[in-house]
Amino acid sequence: MTALLWFRRDLRVNDNRALYNAVQAGGGVVAVAFVTPQQWQKQNEASAKISFWLAGLEELASRLAGLGIALHLEEVADNAAIPGALSRVSHQHACSALYFNREYGYYEQQRDESVQKTMQAQKIRIFAFDDRLLIEPGRLLTGSGGYYTVFTPFKKSWLGLLPRVDVDPLPVPDSVAASLSPRKLPLDEISHKLGLPDWCRDMWPAGELAAQKRLADFVRHGLEKYHESRDLPAVDGTSCLSPWLACGALSPRQCLAAVRRENKKWPAEGTGAETWLNELIWRDFYAHVVVGFPRVSRAQPFQKKTTALKWRYDDHDLQAWQTGQTGYPIVDAAMRQLNQTGWMHNRLRMVAAMFLSKHLLIDWRLGEKYFMQHLLDGDLAANNGGWQWSASTGTDAVPYFRIFNPFSQSQRFDANGSFIRRYCPELEPVSAAALHDPVKLASEIAKKKISYPAPVVDHKVARERALAAFKNL
Ligand SMILES: Cc1cc2nc3c(=O)[nH]c(=O)nc-3n(C[C@H](O)[C@H](O)[C@H](O)COP(=O)(O)OP(=O)(O)OC[C@H]3O[C@@H](n4cnc5c(N)ncnc54)[C@H](O)[C@@H]3O)c2cc1C
Repeated sequence: MTALLWFRRDLRVNDNRALYNAVQAGGGVVAVAFVTPQQWQKQNEASAKISFWLAGLEELASRLAGLGIALHLEEVADNAAIPGALSRVSHQHACSALYFNREYGYYEQQRDESVQKTMQAQKIRIFAFDDRLLIEPGRLLTGSGGYYTVFTPFKKSWLGLLPRVDVDPLPVPDSVAASLSPRKLPLDEISHKLGLPDWCRDMWPAGELAAQKRLADFVRHGLEKYHESRDLPAVDGTSCLSPWLACGALSPRQCLAAVRRENKKWPAEGTGAETWLNELIWRDFYAHVVVGFPRVSRAQPFQKKTTALKWRYDDHDLQAWQTGQTGYPIVDAAMRQLNQTGWMHNRLRMVAAMFLSKHLLIDWRLGEKYFMQHLLDGDLAANNGGWQWSASTGTDAVPYFRIFNPFSQSQRFDANGSFIRRYCPELEPVSAAALHDPVKLASEIAKKKISYPAPVVDHKVARERALAAFKNL
C-alpha cells in the first residue's frame, strides 16, 4: 500500500500528524504539494509569503528525502483543479490512501470537500488530522452548543479541557525507505514566473530548522519579560514566530512544549510565559470563530447590524494609509514596517487598523485585504479577527467608542520615538515630544523644513465622525 501525503500549511517533519500516521501505516509514502497561482491571487496571498512558503518547501523536500519520501510539486491554477490533480498523482503512484492535516478556512474546507468526493469515488481512503491548533474547532462549545463569541469564557473552557487533550509533539517518523537524493524542485522557475520577491529570504529564513532555532532563542531570552515588552515595537519583545506558525513550519504544540519543558504546569498568571501562551489561545479562538461563523470569511461582519455602516471609500486617504503618509507618525511607521518587512508588531496592527476603520472610516475589508497582500504571516482567521476587533464589527470587539488616539499610543509605547524614527527617517531631527503632539509636530516640521505630510484628518474631527456613524446604526 502506498499513501499519498498532501502538504498544505504544515511544512515540517517534526510533530506532523498526517506525516507521522502515513508512515505508521507501514507502506510506501509519496508526498505532494500544489502551487496555485490563481487561488493565491483570489485569496490575496502576499507574494513575500508565497516566497517564504516555497523556500520552506525546499527544506521540507530535502528532509523528506532523508526519510525516503519524494515530494512532488504540482502547479495547477486554483483549488478547483486540485481534486483532478490529486487523483492523477495518486493513480501514477498507485496510492490507496490520502493523508492530510485539516485546514479550517472557507476556501480550504470547500476544496477538501470536493477532494473527498473525488477520492472516495475512486475508492481512495482519506485520513485527515487536526494538527493546526492546540484544541480543534468543535471541541469547545458553549452550554447551548454554539461556538464561543467572547474570548474570556472561551479561554476558561479551553484551559479546562487542555489536560484532556493530546498536545505532546510527535517525533520525526522513521524512514520508510533508504534516503533518496533530494529532488530539485523548480522553485526558481516558479518564483521567476510569479515575480516573487527574494528580499525576505535573509530577513525571514524559511523552514522548520529556522523556526526551531527562533523558538528556542525566544524561550531562552524573551519569554520571561514578554508581558513587559510585548507592547513596545522598538524592542524585540515578541517571538516573531507568526510567519512559521502560519505556514506550519512550526506547530503550536511545539510552542507549548518549549514553554512547559521545565514545568509541566500551566504558568502562573501574569508571567511572561502565561501571557505568551494566552496569545496561542487567541489564535485558537479566531480559528474557531471562522468555523463557527463562516460568514466572517466571506467578507461579512460578525455583528450583522454593522453591515449598514456607511463606510467611506476614499482612494486618496486609503493610499495615504497604505504608503505610510497619513501625517500620524506611529501609523506611518507601522505601515512602512509592513511594506518593508512583511510583518507588523501586534500593537501597531491594532493602531493602524483602528486608524483606517475609525479615523478614516474606511471599510475595514480594504485594510484586511491590504494586510493579507503584504503579511508573511497572513492568516485568514487571525487577520479577520484582528480587523473585526479593531473596526468594532467582530466577536468580542473593542467597543466602537474606544478609539485609540495615535499620538497617545506612540507616547505610551514608543516614548523616545526610536521606532518611529527607524521607519520614518525624515523625522530624525524632530524631538520626541513633538512626535507625540500634533501641534508641536507641525511647528517643528515647518521650522526644520522637513518633508512630512500634514495629518490626513484631525483626530477630534475624525473621532466625532466615527462615533456618529456607529451611533446611527
Ligand atoms: C488587524 C490585525 C491583523 C492581524 N493579522 C494577523 C495575521 O494575518 N496573522 C497572524 O498570525 N496574526 C495576525 N494578527 C495577530 C498578531 O498581531 C500577530 O499574530 C502577532 O503580531 C505576530 O507576532 P509574534 O509572532 O511576534 O507574536 P507573539 O506575541 O510572539 O505571539 C505568539 C503567536 O501567537 C499568535 N497570536 C498572537 N497574537 C494573536 C492574536 N491577536 N490573534 C491570533 N493569534 C495571535 C501568533 O501565531 C503569534 O505568532 C493580527 C492582529 C491584528 C490586530
